[in-house]
Parts: sequence; structure tokens; C-alpha cells
Amino acid sequence: MITDEFIRTIQSESVTIKKDEPMYLHTSFRIGGNAECFCEVKNIDALKNVIAACKSFDVPYFIIGLGSNLLVSDKGIGGVVIKLGGDFDVVEITDKNTLRCGAGVSLAGVCIYAKNNSLGGLEFAWGIPGSMGGAVYMNAGAYGGEIKDVVVSSRYLDSNGNINEINTEKHEFSYRHSFYTDKDYIILDVTLKLYPKNKNEIFYLMQDTMQRRKAKQPLNRPSAGSVFKRPEGYYAAALIEQCGLKGLSVGDAQVSEKHSGFIVNNGRASARDVMELIKKVKDAVREKTGVNLHCEIKYVE
Ligand SMILES: Cc1cc2nc3c(=O)[nH]c(=O)nc-3n(C[C@H](O)[C@H](O)[C@H](O)COP(=O)(O)OP(=O)(O)OC[C@H]3O[C@@H](n4cnc5c(N)ncnc54)[C@H](O)[C@@H]3O)c2cc1C
Repeated sequence: MITDEFIRTIQSESVTIKKDEPMYLHTSFRIGGNAECFCEVKNIDALKNVIAACKSFDVPYFIIGLGSNLLVSDKGIGGVVIKLGGDFDVVEITDKNTLRCGAGVSLAGVCIYAKNNSLGGLEFAWGIPGSMGGAVYMNAGAYGGEIKDVVVSSRYLDSNGNINEINTEKHEFSYRHSFYTDKDYIILDVTLKLYPKNKNEIFYLMQDTMQRRKAKQPLNRPSAGSVFKRPEGYYAAALIEQCGLKGLSVGDAQVSEKHSGFIVNNGRASARDVMELIKKVKDAVREKTGVNLHCEIKYVE
């Protein structure tokens, strides 16, 4: 429970606090009840202070990136939702071919920055609508590339307020998984190693990636991307289609007609609608093909 004393403790010029903030405003699904307290935090000291206050007042916290892989409960999120802004929203070249990216910066922003500086290696990520922190947490990937291919180190804040740094191997990257998965660490910044490449060539590859996305994905509807992880040896979308589930809906939540791996929000879908639809899809796929589907998207409450 958030008290006035808690709010006074975290209040500073570097923290924007909104009580009862609708989470549908902060998710690509456009779904979700209110966050009890939504804080945009602009630097490390302010972040440390918020985490320390959460600990001493026994208030849970959840770190959000750009909300593009989340399904937020209709009841909302208790405690504090933290979004990184300010100092966390920067990208810079620190050394030859090396970028240091704040965890809050959008992957799109980093892709453009890399292209403008004739640095290749990130073209695969063009069109993934998340932040750098979210991309590392998820080991985001597409079209043959994954964020693990370019990360050399990252720094994070643990719940005791200590800043730690890990290098490539310690990230334990695997398919949509990293060292950070299911931990309460907050990724602060990420260092990427890219390589010199002709700007036009990068631009061409980025355009090609985007065209492939536009051709296959329902980008005109709110969604959280692929709902299910790729099961070993199969494609989730193909299994869903094979089971005749394309277009299936619960309320305004629908298995996309364009890409069966996506669930789209056709207007006023609730998290409950989406969860019910996910269950129907999982049950039908298991019954008809024997394959268990696992969610890639994160349910938060
Ligand atoms: C249209 C569309 C297409 C997509 N295409 C792809 C694709 O091709 N490939 C792919 O991999 N994904 C794809 N996604 C899913 C999504 O964009 C990625 O998973 C992305 O990496 C999520 O980043 P985010 O910042 O939005 O994270 P969020 O959705 O906000 O959060 C995801 C997880 O990361 C954690 N997190 C976020 N920031 C931090 C931080 N700083 N420190 C610690 N933890 C953090 C959150 O707590 C949460 O557990 C797509 C989504 C959409 C809507």
C-alpha cells in the first residue's frame, strides 16, 4: 500500500510520480488497469532512492520498458511501476565501434544512431518496438539476429542498491531468455559492439526488414507481438493455423487473421479476454497436435 510518507520519500526533481496511472497508456496491447504508483525516474541516484524506499516501506516494484511484451491485468499493478527516462534515454559512442546505451532508450533510436554512424550489426532489430533494457531482458531477436550477438556488457542495480556489471557470457542468453529473466534487477545500461558498415547498405537492410514485418504482421492493430515462444521443431503460428484457430476471438481479443502467432486488440479487449483466448489456443493446439505452447508475453498484475 502506497502511503503519503512513501510518496514524500521518493519525491524529487528526478522522479515524475503519477498515482493510479492507466497502464493501457504504457503498453503496445493498449490493455491494463491502473498502476498504483507510476514513476518515471531520470537518473541513478533517484532510482536508488526509489528502490531503497520500496524496500523499507515493503512496496513491490516492477520495471517496465516500452511495454511491448506485456499483458497487464485488468485490475492493474499494485505497488510501483518504474519507467526509466532522462539519463537512461541516451546512446553514445564510447570507443571505436562501441555503443553505450541507456536501458530506457528505444531499440529504434539505437538502430538509427548506429546507421547514422555507419555501424552495422543491429539491422535485425529494426522494427522491434521495445527499449534496450527490455531487449536484453528478453534477448529480443528477429530475422536471424538476436541482441546476444551484439551485447558485450551491461550494468544493473540490485534490490540492495548495488550497481553490478556483467560481460557477454554471464548474460546466459538463450532463446527469449537472459540472466535477468525473472529477477528483480534493473538494467541500467548496455554496451554493444558493432562493426563498420556502409550506411546505405545498413539502410537497405533496415528497409528490407521493415517491409517483411509489414507484409507478415498485423502492425495496424495493438498487440504484444508473438504471443507464444517457438516450440522446438515447430512454428507456433503454423500450429495455430493448422488447428483452424486463425481469427478465433474472445470479446475484442482475436487471433490475428494476418499472423496467427499474434493476438490483436480490436478495440476494447480486456486482459481477461486475452487470457481466455490464450487458454483456448493452448488447449486446442495441445489436443490436436500434442505440442505445448508457452507464452512469450509477460502477464503482470
Ligand atoms: C508489433 C510487435 C512486434 C514485435 N516483434 C518482436 C520481434 O521480432 N522479436 C522479439 O524478440 N520481440 C518482438 N516483440 C516483443 C517486444 O518488442 C520485445 O520483447 C521487446 O524486447 C520488449 O521490450 P520492452 O522495452 O517493450 O519491454 P517490456 O515489454 O516493457 O518488458 C518486458 C520484460 O522486460 C523487463 N524489463 C524491461 N526493461 C527492463 C530493465 N531496464 N531492467 C530489467 N528488466 C527490464 C520487464 O520487467 C519485463 O519483464 C514485438 C512486439 C510487438 C508489439
